[in-house]
Amino acid sequence: MRSTRPTTTQTTCDCEDCTSFTITGHIRRTTPAQQADRHHHTAAVDGWSDEEARDYCPGCPVGVPVEQHDHDGLWADDEQTDNEA
Ligand SMILES: [Zn+2]
Repeated sequence: MRSTRPTTTQTTCDCEDCTSFTITGHIRRTTPAQQADRHHHTAAVDGWSDEEARDYCPGCPVGVPVEQHDHDGLWADDEQTDNEA
């Protein structure tokens, strides 16, 4: 779910039971469309996916059964990198 405000754009994971979100603050304001574009680009780089207008955090990959989601956003994902390497 996306919420766009004048100074922030936020995406919340659309997976049930998941509370992960990513937010971009717009310190230097441009047009709402440009701010949204920048936010969604950043989210995509971070591993968020956009599937049929629903957004999923890096812990909830599209195509993976919900039971296998870890519901982790990027920060938790970062901590796991060392273990998985
Ligand atoms: Zn999620």
